[in-house]
Amino acid sequence: MANQHKTVLVSGGTGYIGSHTAVELINAGYDVVIIDNLVNSEIYSLDGIEKITGKRPAFEKVDTCDMGALRRVFEKYAFDSVIHFAAHKAVGESMDEPLKYYSNNLVSFMNTVELMKEFGRPNVLFSSSATVYGNADTQPVTEQTPRKPAESPYGNTKQIAEDILRDCTRAYRGLHGIALRYFNPIGAHPSALIGELPRGVPNNLVPYITQTAAGIRKELSIFGDDYDTPDGTCLRDFIDIVDLAKAHVATIDRMTQGKMEQDYEIFNVGTGRPVSVLELVKGFERVNNLKLPYRITGRRQGDIPAVWADTTRANEVLGWKAERSLDDTLRAAWAWQQHLGK
Ligand code: NAD
Ligand code: UDP
Repeated sequence: MANQHKTVLVSGGTGYIGSHTAVELINAGYDVVIIDNLVNSEIYSLDGIEKITGKRPAFEKVDTCDMGALRRVFEKYAFDSVIHFAAHKAVGESMDEPLKYYSNNLVSFMNTVELMKEFGRPNVLFSSSATVYGNADTQPVTEQTPRKPAESPYGNTKQIAEDILRDCTRAYRGLHGIALRYFNPIGAHPSALIGELPRGVPNNLVPYITQTAAGIRKELSIFGDDYDTPDGTCLRDFIDIVDLAKAHVATIDRMTQGKMEQDYEIFNVGTGRPVSVLELVKGFERVNNLKLPYRITGRRQGDIPAVWADTTRANEVLGWKAERSLDDTLRAAWAWQQHLGK
């Protein structure tokens, strides 16, 4: 295989997106080293990765904010590329505990970039987010759509980290960076061996739906049906987690094959298709043949009415496209919830 023995360091790799990405990297022939401090994931996701791929990635329990421990990982493993997932991600919590977010998300990223530079390792892939667009003036958003001032410390860490990557790739010869701006990742691996593990009451729509279907939550609240959208509920670009994971492989391919046109590049990773909250709820009921108790409640503060991706650049330049159907994604989300219930 073309990628045989190319090694990728995946920080935050036992988490939701990281574990699915590890699977797709291994399937594409890469060797994977995972580091994670397990603050928001479980070590047993390594078992899932191994069952799916037949290969267990190397794992080190490391906090990426700990420069000494991170340096030892760089000394031990010969990788050219890092995918930096390690971050806290709860928007609401970031409003209450901004320092926790600025310090974890930025120190861990700066440490990583600094060591990439010091060790002469060229490729940094950063997990960014559609949140950088905020409430954009036009939809769908392209990579050129201006970013809006961040509405939360979490969102601000994504903007600042993008800027750090841009500036460092400009300043340090040989360092290359790609930021992937994810839209709304949902679903789970079709094997139901890995998936999302929300702690406590989920904030995100799909884990809330699956927990309601499982009887863990009494009912789903739909936050507002009076938006200026076709059915009044918000529109989002829900991207299947396996498709999203594959976008990382295409990005690492681009970097390791020397195909980048600039030292710093940005790609939207979405489907390009807006889906309403109500459509998603009804789709979940239909494909899984169940009834979901839900109620329309007031708007959630800070929600934007609609955001979806223009994916032309990822389609044409990365050669990547979202392929899985929303129905399959919603089936996989439910299968994973049922697996968790066992
Ligand atoms: P996740 O919480 O499942 O995964 C993040 C992983 O990072 C966890 O395993 C956690 O234990 C680890 N981690 C956190 N801080 C660490 C540290 N200092 N050292 C080592 N490990 C650390 O979250 P996810 O959904 O997989 O998100 C991955 C990345 O994608 C994050 O950067 C997140 O901000 C970004 N992102 C996620 C979404 C989403 O909706 N899930 C959307 C856009 C961007
Ligand atoms: N949402 C909802 N009920 C919930 C959780 C989310 O109606 O319990 C809506 C939310 O208002 C938004 C959409 O679902 O319009 C996606 O929300 P999520 O938190 O999953 O992602 P976001 O787009 O906010 O990052």
